[in-house]
Amino acid sequence: MISIRGVAHSIRGKTILEDINLDLPRGGVTALIGPNGAGKSTLLSLVARLQNLGTGTIMVDDLQIGACPDAALARVLAIMPQSAQVSARLRVGEAVMMGRYPWHRGRPGKRDGEIVTETLRLFSLTPLADRFLDEISGGQRQRALVAMAYAQETDYLLLDEPLNNLDIAASRHLMGLLRQMADGGRKSIVIVLHDINYAAAFADRVVVMRNGRIVADGPPGVVITPGLLGDVFKTDAQVHVIDDRPVVLV
Ligand code: ADP
Ligand code: MG
Repeated sequence: MISIRGVAHSIRGKTILEDINLDLPRGGVTALIGPNGAGKSTLLSLVARLQNLGTGTIMVDDLQIGACPDAALARVLAIMPQSAQVSARLRVGEAVMMGRYPWHRGRPGKRDGEIVTETLRLFSLTPLADRFLDEISGGQRQRALVAMAYAQETDYLLLDEPLNNLDIAASRHLMGLLRQMADGGRKSIVIVLHDINYAAAFADRVVVMRNGRIVADGPPGVVITPGLLGDVFKTDAQVHVIDDRPVVLV
């Protein structure tokens, strides 16, 4: 379980996160939604220790963020940051092998090779394995970055806006894959999504942030309402229910 207690964060005196308390149990897909600037990326980056945690505590299973070794955390939790910085001069296959680093520590073995092959297949990247990251489309690159995090073989996978640049087919395919990973094993997936309809269709749970706070948390059918869209997103879009799932009409 990821357990977040009393987390606050400020940058140069400006409050970015305040009083964050959240438990993310093992398994399932949690969508993190909220307007731009709500603090979603900051929260994920604190959990993944890309930024230092000042106030509060975060536990990932029995590892305390800020106290446990990075190497131990990297075998349990992977993140694809919103603006992932990966060298464009890496080939897709090499990038996915880099995702294995916490296991091979620079000396890839047979099992690392097998997992890379399988990951490339899973993400429909096999034909692109030898292409450089700056020689593929934005959507293909996005898929490669998710594959890199996936290949890290962790129980927790944090993805910050992985659907950016993806067309509808690629978005549905990726969300379907993530759904399968959460259903099939012990993987817990936390995913920042802009399109509320993807959250409604694929997530078990939706956590809503606004102005650095969590303002709603629950199953999509309970959380995604016209009231929420009005209060949090300042829009009067209608919500219909189709196959027990809310659908926002845009
Ligand atoms: P979200 O991912 O929900 O769009 P972020 O976590 O990226 O939100 O940002 C939350 C707030 O923190 C925003 O107001 C943003 O401007 C501010 N912020 C994020 N990173 C920095 C930074 N390095 N310096 C100053 N302000 C920052
Ligand atoms: Mg963000």
